[in-house]
Amino acid sequence: MHTRSSNDDATDRRLKLLIGLVVVLAAGVATMDVWHAIATHAAVPHPLVLVLIYAISLISFRIKIVIRVRSNQSGFTWVGVPIMAGLVLLPVPWVVLCVTAGMATVRILNRADPLRAVFAIAKEVLVISAAGAALLLLGAQPSIDQPQASVAAVVVAFLASWLVDDLVFYPVIAVASRSTIGKLYRNDISEQVIFRAATLATIIYINEVLVMGASLVLLAFVPALVGCLHLWRLRRLRTQQEREAWRQLADTTDELSSVDLNQVLHIAAAQGSKLFSAGEVEIDLTASGVDRVVRADTDGVTYDGPGPRKFDGDLSITNELETRDRSYQAGLLVLDFGGKVKLTEFEQYKLKTFGSALCTAIRNAAAYAELQRINEQNAYDAAHDPLTGLANRRELYERADEYFAGRTDDGVVALLLIDLNHFKEVNDTLGHAAGDAVLREVARRLDDAAAPGDLVARLGGDEFAVLLVNLLTPALATHRAEQMLGALETTLEVEGMQITVEAAGGIALAPGSGGINELMRRADVAMYQAKRAGQPTATYAHAQDTADVERLMLGGELQRAVAEQEFVVDFQPIVDLGSGEVISAEALARWQHPEYGYLTPMQFLETVERSGQLPAFADAVLDQALAASNVWRAAGFDLPVAVNVSPRSLLDPRFPATVLTRLARHDVPPERLVLELAETLTISQLDTVSRALDELREAGVRLALDDFGTGVSPLSVLSHIPVNQLKIDRGFVTALETSSEAAAVVRSTVDLARSLHLTVIAEGVESEPQRHALWELGCVAGQGHLFARPMSSVRLLGTLQRGTGGRPGALASALHDAGAVVRMPRRRTTGPGRTG
Ligand code: C2E
Ligand code: CA
Ligand code: CA
Repeated sequence: MHTRSSNDDATDRRLKLLIGLVVVLAAGVATMDVWHAIATHAAVPHPLVLVLIYAISLISFRIKIVIRVRSNQSGFTWVGVPIMAGLVLLPVPWVVLCVTAGMATVRILNRADPLRAVFAIAKEVLVISAAGAALLLLGAQPSIDQPQASVAAVVVAFLASWLVDDLVFYPVIAVASRSTIGKLYRNDISEQVIFRAATLATIIYINEVLVMGASLVLLAFVPALVGCLHLWRLRRLRTQQEREAWRQLADTTDELSSVDLNQVLHIAAAQGSKLFSAGEVEIDLTASGVDRVVRADTDGVTYDGPGPRKFDGDLSITNELETRDRSYQAGLLVLDFGGKVKLTEFEQYKLKTFGSALCTAIRNAAAYAELQRINEQNAYDAAHDPLTGLANRRELYERADEYFAGRTDDGVVALLLIDLNHFKEVNDTLGHAAGDAVLREVARRLDDAAAPGDLVARLGGDEFAVLLVNLLTPALATHRAEQMLGALETTLEVEGMQITVEAAGGIALAPGSGGINELMRRADVAMYQAKRAGQPTATYAHAQDTADVERLMLGGELQRAVAEQEFVVDFQPIVDLGSGEVISAEALARWQHPEYGYLTPMQFLETVERSGQLPAFADAVLDQALAASNVWRAAGFDLPVAVNVSPRSLLDPRFPATVLTRLARHDVPPERLVLELAETLTISQLDTVSRALDELREAGVRLALDDFGTGVSPLSVLSHIPVNQLKIDRGFVTALETSSEAAAVVRSTVDLARSLHLTVIAEGVESEPQRHALWELGCVAGQGHLFARPMSSVRLLGTLQRGTGGRPGALASALHDAGAVVRMPRRRTTGPGRTG
């Protein structure tokens, strides 16, 4: 992934140009040196002297003090000593020859880069020539027998060589390392001065010994002197470098204290190459099955991806990434220097320290990432349905709440509530695994069909919801809902069987007030309408709101409704909680309005009761209920039917006669009819009512007390009206699992019923846990969405005939292990109609 930028190429070109210039200049100067030597008839020196200068040069270059400027090594050598000594003794060309030969030998031995070697040699030619020219100008004549350079001449010559050295060296290094001359120079200046001063002192000493013709034995001290100076310099430099290195290391490890693994790796790789002046650094992560290599040079990361490493083998330096206590291994750290490099003991130690700091940082970042992952997983689990992976109810509510709080820009929003028809049959006949597979497939299809931004959720059981957002027009909601339900139309295959999924969807547009609860309620109303109409979808109509409907009814709608038989009746089965068998059905009135669709009692009952149409309405309901009862009986399901009676009807003196007439007309035995009375009667009304009811009771009609537990004085009602059944209000059933009061009410109702020999029916049973709880409290009958929603008499008959688990007439599997449940001592009744 390392891409050489055009920047790199430009640098290369400039570098080559500069070096070329230096080489050409050096060639010219060398030619002049030779020409001058020939012109002045310089003598050929003794070979021994040449060899000596060559040898000293070689040694000087060899014991160079290395400082690394980025990855370009540079440094100081003692070569000034043989150069100046040589210039005092020999003509310039010979010095150039000896010194550059020494240098070339070292370069060859080091297998140095040829380009750099040529540059170094050319530079040395210029340096020697400058010093030689200065000596000649100041009157010194090179001679082995009578050297005669003055101290001043030597000093000037040395300074000249220094100047040329710097003039050539810094521009080239600046280009090569992409730094500025000033910066490099300032870095080196103090080092330079001390080192050059030491060199100059040595040179002056040698010169004086040579010039004064003193005993050459004195020269024997020179290597010792140089050696001492050299070691001292080396130590000083090293201490300095070490101090600097520690500082950098400390800075870098500080930077590594990030919890972001990417950041840790990228910083470490880039800083690592600076810290060790390596060409490139690689971090190879192998811990816990990771395959990741991060490579960087001093400019930054050049590769981050899967392995293998680029650098391997003994040309690079490899360090295990492990924590100090070796408890954690992250992988490897590889330094590449573009050639063979041996690290000093200090650098090895630095590498170990860096490696373990990096490893600790990697471990911390990995631990943090894992923590983050667990948190994310938890957040995901809390918001999703484990079976289908869809959002759950909570998530849907949260999203909707955000919308209602005005925190989203979802545009026009609608809720589509989807309920699968006959899903229980799949579960009962094919088993739960197949049921789960169906739910997963349905979820997948809904999710695929959803538009971007829509939230598809599973509310539980076979209920799904889709929050449709960004609807350009409200009317679009229906279109989108139909598309989603359309996605469920093609048969799906479960365990080798083709299954058709039918579903009903209710659509409601987000209301201005009431929030998600109101939205859910509206969608539920619409869904229920769709279900009973046998249509795929229905939309909640705002016109159905009670206020609007009431207004319409004053305009004489009720009369028409009765005349046109717009009042129809749905039936909700009442089930034996233990066996799951249907034991009776409750008639619930609906208004099939030509314009507004199905209206529920909540929306029209009050108006009906206040109008003159109540008797006609009640008669219509009773008529249909008894007709339905006959149809079921003919099909072999002899179920009593329960009909709700308004308190107002009971106050009507003609009411008992109407009921008995209807019974006779349909030829239904009076015991097959249950009248459900609301608890809302006042004490003064009770006397009148009880007289009317006595007549019916004597004829054999059964009575039930509806919404038991919500009225003011249930006991006074019971003492006036001898009923056969108590219907526990839905509110207590809903609260059963969360409120001990609700459980107490249910238990005391059951106890009361037992002592009065009444049947107890629980209303609004929506879940299996509720069914279990009620059963354990001694309640034996119930109705609610768990078993069935209200439906037409024809559909109820179909449902009865299909049954559950191969048992016609049953809507739920029997409670297993029923014998273990603490039961009422009294024999369980088989149906509300047969009690009392
Ligand atoms: P109710 O007699 O208490 O009827 C039960 C109500 O609870 C019905 O509402 C039924 O659809 C609903 N329900 C049944 N199972 C569940 C469940 O599991 N969860 C929930 N949330 N609700 C469930 P609906 O049909 O809207 O009837 C409302 C009320 O209207 C009835 O309450 C009854 O008092 C009255 N009503 C219904 N039909 C007639 C009628 O023909 N004549 C008179 N006078 N009143 C009626
Ligand atoms: Ca009722
Ligand atoms: Ca009720």
